[in-house]
Amino acid sequence: MDYPKSAEFIIIGGGIIGVSTAYHLSKAVKDVIVLEANELVSQASGRNGGMVVQLDSRDINIDVMKTKLGFARKAIEELKNYQRELDVDFEFEQNGSLDFIFDKKEMEHLKRFVDIQHSASDDEIELLGKNETIERMPIINKEVLGARFRASDGHLNPLYLCYGIIDKAKKFGARFYEFSKVKEIIVESGNIKGVKLTDGKFIRSKWVINCTNAWAESLTPEIKIVPIREIAMVTEVMPKLKVHSYEAYIGGLMGSKEEQHCWGTTQHENGNLCIGGPGLVPNHYYKKITYEEVTNTVNCMKAMFPLLDEVKIIRCWCGAFAFTPDYNPFVGEIFDKKGLFVIAGLNNGFGLGPALSKLGCEVILDGEASLDISSMNPIRFVGINVKLPKAYTYAGIQEYIAENSAKWQT
Ligand SMILES: Cc1cc2nc3c(=O)[nH]c(=O)nc-3n(C[C@H](O)[C@H](O)[C@H](O)COP(=O)(O)OP(=O)(O)OC[C@H]3O[C@@H](n4cnc5c(N)ncnc54)[C@H](O)[C@@H]3O)c2cc1C
Repeated sequence: MDYPKSAEFIIIGGGIIGVSTAYHLSKAVKDVIVLEANELVSQASGRNGGMVVQLDSRDINIDVMKTKLGFARKAIEELKNYQRELDVDFEFEQNGSLDFIFDKKEMEHLKRFVDIQHSASDDEIELLGKNETIERMPIINKEVLGARFRASDGHLNPLYLCYGIIDKAKKFGARFYEFSKVKEIIVESGNIKGVKLTDGKFIRSKWVINCTNAWAESLTPEIKIVPIREIAMVTEVMPKLKVHSYEAYIGGLMGSKEEQHCWGTTQHENGNLCIGGPGLVPNHYYKKITYEEVTNTVNCMKAMFPLLDEVKIIRCWCGAFAFTPDYNPFVGEIFDKKGLFVIAGLNNGFGLGPALSKLGCEVILDGEASLDISSMNPIRFVGINVKLPKAYTYAGIQEYIAENSAKWQT
């Protein structure tokens, strides 16, 4: 590969964060390159369901909630900016999202989250009862007890958005290199010198931005990434259904004691429905999908939507994205490595990607972000022994945050 000897900005990773960062930086300066280990947009950003869920809130602290609400609103603002600025229609539709509840205990936990959201002035969020939930999404299993609903959430086509951004960034002068894996970020005397690729080549730069999400900790060990592997599939074309993006924890519904989550997006314009479930393989970077994972995700769909029992699945895949221990991403400079910046740790983060990359670029270009991003400080877990939650249910996460939030805030 014919790389330049140096670049003003090197971005590592060609997912939504990397390409959106390239867009903002190349708009301001010309010398921007993106190094992607595989094909562009081939990992989480090209494999997700396109749900735009602004606030997947599990927080019990009102101030934290208020901060997250600010980011949520910024996320929608940035998606709307891209609608105006890009030359593609990425099918962004704000038709709402639902968090379904099937378990009485989980309903109590979700009620508490919604009360906290209301106290944090999140007036849009609604807790729906059984009948209202069924009215919103009539194909749902009638055992549903209720749901949390946000009207301004929705869905989009992630590939159209990413490629629309890439095309525009190229017009601004950004250069993209595929199959270019960074082995090491080189730092000398506390300053960034550049990156070394796996083929031994070195590219000099004073600025390196790590946008590799699930893989980010291997390049910047100061941060703490918890990789999560998910399964996604699409159904055959169906007549138009009344559906919304959704998430749910189900277990009892599938006859099992183990809770597992599942999710899905509104129907694509061509009639396919995208649905997903948890990966079952302990290695979250495993790239193949197993037969058990396919049948498990199909069973999730049947449990949630008994009416779709006979519907055929036409394609399935898996992918890895990243959680962080406090559900906040990492955006900022690594304080003792001048010029090394991280924008990573996005869980259900595709829709938030444009906003986070914009905030990161504001810091890089102007020295300050338009929102307070101190909660995203990339070194906040340095020296902390992080224990992860036992279960990723509403109850499990609520207990985990209650146990740990005081420790993280000190
Ligand atoms: C199956 C699935 C469904 C999902 N559904 C949704 C959803 O509906 N809604 C939602 O909001 N979110 C969803 N997500 C999460 C969402 O996709 C991610 O949060 C988001 O795409 C992360 O974007 P990113 O750019 O940070 O990471 P990625 O898209 O993973 O990009 C990181 C890139 O870095 C590259 N890279 C890694 N290491 C190196 C290296 N050393 N050198 C060079 N390049 C490197 C990788 O190859 C990769 O392309 C889903 C994820 C999956 C896997």
